[in-house]
Amino acid sequence: MKKYLTREGGATVTVFVPYDCNNHCPFCINKQEYRNREGFSTEKVCESIRMLDGITPRCDFVFTGGEPFANPDDLQVMLDCVPDTHRVFINTTLPVSELFPEERIIEFTERNKNKITCINVSRHMKRYVEESNDSLLAALHVPVRVNCVLFKEYPHDGMKEFADRFGKYGIPIQFRADYTITTLENLYQREGDAILADLMKNFTYLGLDGCRIRCGYHFDNNGQHIAYHRTLPYSTLPVNVDGEEYDVLYDVLIKQNGDPHSDWTYVPLDVEAYRNVRFEPYDLKVLEGRIE
Ligand code: SF4
Repeated sequence: MKKYLTREGGATVTVFVPYDCNNHCPFCINKQEYRNREGFSTEKVCESIRMLDGITPRCDFVFTGGEPFANPDDLQVMLDCVPDTHRVFINTTLPVSELFPEERIIEFTERNKNKITCINVSRHMKRYVEESNDSLLAALHVPVRVNCVLFKEYPHDGMKEFADRFGKYGIPIQFRADYTITTLENLYQREGDAILADLMKNFTYLGLDGCRIRCGYHFDNNGQHIAYHRTLPYSTLPVNVDGEEYDVLYDVLIKQNGDPHSDWTYVPLDVEAYRNVRFEPYDLKVLEGRIE
């Protein structure tokens, strides 16, 4: 029987909302899945949220898509299934629509401010997504972070200006590399990393943290926190602990039809094995410098 290992508290649960966004980002790996909506079900997603809460009642939940804010009523239903023992993150482009105008988004965050740990808003140096006003990000009643994917050729001389655009609202930024090209061998490799070189040029380097499958370089931009995130394109690693073989799980997923998966690579989760998961201390450590 399969044996799983995960960190104390449990693997992060990423929930793919059962409805799509209106964007077509060139680096998107989820768009394809939203083309055929057969079997997509908010109810089934909720069942899996409750099931995973039962196994790891203190894990983190991340809502992603598609676009979580494209259907505020269903998002509320799913959020209401997550008890207060969990940290909750929402990945969004923060689209404004007739259904969900600015006032309603602000009211949504006011209502859920004790539930939502952080809203991660996608903004890129090249515009791939329809953007709402920057002032809306600052008006939300929950912490906000900007996630910026640096895909292929990005404007290398625009990094400081981009950071300052959000720095004036006190909003931190996480830059992300195209993780489809990351491997176990090059995860921590610095030579030839143009993004890292640009960051070192523009901001004050604070330090590096990391674990088996991801790492983060941290910087300061006049009080604004800037991070650079690198991760592998999969979230399960085989390890041998005390002479026994385990799959270490960093993320588990709830797909749009409610199916639980153990990786981004379409591997179904063995739920019974996960009920017997072994826990280890989180291996994320500060490897260099000082990170608060
Ligand atoms: S906004 Fe997100 S889900 Fe939509 S196309 Fe871009 S990356 Fe994909």
